[in-house]
Amino acid sequence: MGCSSHGKLRKTRKVKVGRFSIGGSSPVSVQSMCNTDTRDLKATVDQIRRLEEAGCEIIRVAVPDMEAASNLGRIKRAISIPLVADIHFDWRLAIESVRQGVDKVRINPGNIGDRDKVKEVVGVCRSAGIPIRIGVNAGSLKALKDKPRPAWKPFDWARQMVKEALDEVRTLERLNFRDIVVSLKADDIERTVMANTLFASKSDIPLHLGVTEAGSFLAGTVKSSLGIGLLLTRGIGDTVRVSLTEDPAMQVRAAYEILKSLGLRLYGPDLVSCPTCGRCQVNVGKVIHELEDRIYSDRNLLKQSEGMKIAVMGCVVNGPGEARSADFGVAGGKGRGIWIEKGKQIKVVKESEWVNEVIRKIRSAK
Ligand code: SF4
Repeated sequence: MGCSSHGKLRKTRKVKVGRFSIGGSSPVSVQSMCNTDTRDLKATVDQIRRLEEAGCEIIRVAVPDMEAASNLGRIKRAISIPLVADIHFDWRLAIESVRQGVDKVRINPGNIGDRDKVKEVVGVCRSAGIPIRIGVNAGSLKALKDKPRPAWKPFDWARQMVKEALDEVRTLERLNFRDIVVSLKADDIERTVMANTLFASKSDIPLHLGVTEAGSFLAGTVKSSLGIGLLLTRGIGDTVRVSLTEDPAMQVRAAYEILKSLGLRLYGPDLVSCPTCGRCQVNVGKVIHELEDRIYSDRNLLKQSEGMKIAVMGCVVNGPGEARSADFGVAGGKGRGIWIEKGKQIKVVKESEWVNEVIRKIRSAK
């Protein structure tokens, strides 16, 4: 999707991930993670293609075993965005993933094992010319291994998360490996923001932002928007992933909405609709949901509608006024509505045709 004119404040090193870059002056990119079983080739490829249509720019898949790892080459050949292998516990899965041609590997220093294993992963990534993300999660810190949860204050957590990330960074950099991205995720805003802010003050490594296990669609989107948003307004963050217990396509959308609201990326139209009230005699909710489904699942429509303001209003009391300030829109009557373009009433359109009319208008716009 498009990039707005706003720049990022923090200068980070640039890391290439397939045809995308993270860091440097690259726009903040949007990532997601499949929730399919990576061993199921068809389900995984289908989901990634749907996410590509929704604007996902980098996709990560879980690699729980060798069967999943051996599918990665076929997955990669069937998709057009960079593929990231998510590795926990077994370094050999990272080696096989790289052999299969993935564009990036994510390792968790809390569970990948000793330095020799990390060294081997670094060696194959260097030969393949791909980066490594060091993904530190508050819940799986090395310092907590086999220990009860400590009575730490949020800043103690943040300090430990940053320490473990920097320890791993040092290991990689001592091996002369610098294509590194770091993430520091907790399941709450306070620790996530503290850890990323602290890390940003110590390193030029690009940061992948996210609040991990953020929750259900509404609660998780609010939590992620605040956590990721706070960091981005401080100029911290180079790529984002919104984690929700929800269709990954909605995670992609939520990520773009955060970036769009901060003026960092363009993504589809600005859809204005009224909350409806007792005057309304059309189904505004149904029209808006259908419109969103059509636009946000079609890369071309997303691109063509970028920056457009489109209004769907329930009645003629406030409707025409709102619709007039939009590029175009419709204000309801009974089962029909007044179609308005650039402030002028153009025609009357039946309610059943509103969605198609909006789509036609987007497609025909220059
Ligand atoms: S535009 Fe009309 S239907 Fe919608 S909230 Fe306002 S008064 Fe109610």
